[in-house]
Amino acid sequence: MPHLIHTLSTLLLISLLCACSPSSEHDSTDTKNKDKTSASLTHNFPYKFEQVANNTWVIHGPRELPNAKNKGFMNNPGLVLTSAGLVVIDPGSTVYIGNDVITEIKKVSQQAIVAVFNTHIHGDHWLANQAIKMAYPDVKIYGHTEMINEVNNGEGESWLDIMDTLTEGASRGTEVVAPEYAVINADVIKVGDTHFKIHHYGIAHTKTDIMIEVVENSVVFLGDNVLSQRIPRTSNGTFIGNITSVNTLLKSDIKTYVPGHGPTGDRAMVEEYIKYLSLVYEAAKEAFNQDLDSSDVLAISKETTTAYKDWYGYDDLLGPQGAQAYSEVEEAEF
Ligand SMILES: [Zn+2]
Repeated sequence: MPHLIHTLSTLLLISLLCACSPSSEHDSTDTKNKDKTSASLTHNFPYKFEQVANNTWVIHGPRELPNAKNKGFMNNPGLVLTSAGLVVIDPGSTVYIGNDVITEIKKVSQQAIVAVFNTHIHGDHWLANQAIKMAYPDVKIYGHTEMINEVNNGEGESWLDIMDTLTEGASRGTEVVAPEYAVINADVIKVGDTHFKIHHYGIAHTKTDIMIEVVENSVVFLGDNVLSQRIPRTSNGTFIGNITSVNTLLKSDIKTYVPGHGPTGDRAMVEEYIKYLSLVYEAAKEAFNQDLDSSDVLAISKETTTAYKDWYGYDDLLGPQGAQAYSEVEEAEF
């Protein structure tokens, strides 16, 4: 029975992810019969680290979902050089992607990787921990207490299954390597002469999120609490929690903001994203106040969010997000 429940919840997660995947993203021409074990051996990784701040680099991954072609890579791995060695934020989605990221890291610096931060439970951000741990066994991996709890409850295995399905086997061989060092809001981790300050203000994109401020470099890694040019998957979080968490972070005067997906930017990029979440929530409120149904939110939000229509995932996610926001409004009213 627990196995059945596990399988069902995995299928549910896959359907949630797939719900926001336009069919054009699926290259299904010849993947069905491909020898799956060889998929990862002929890997081509065309992404490079770009400097975004002092001693800070980011690989800006593709904004599409994990698929057979990208082999699961879709996030923004971050790299910070300290006097004690390198720190990686969200190394990626599979052991193979992790190895590719390490290869790219070596082009920036030959120093050892001494620490890793995982921004949240979604596997596209952290299943590559395995590659870092294999190459640097003494590395310290940090994540929020709630993330470690969720991994202990089997979420890592669920994400391995999701990746395996979406990449059509290209992630196979990846194992769960969880963070071992728990952090909470306001913790400051000192690595060499650099301070990593943890921001967590309750449930946001998920309940496991940390935003990592690199104090000396005036840069913050936002995880999926902020995306740029891409519509988020909101079903593990709340609109109000996400908006409130990010607005709290914005009180710190930070210069550079690295989203979980999409291009790095300044405060205006963050505000543009929060405006999207607010517009969807406001549309839900309006529908509720007019005694309309949750399915009526879409007609309103479509009018108010036209500025975001070219963002990846917009057409597929705006409807379900309106319904989710409507439930939140209902809950807040009673
Ligand atoms: Zn996420």
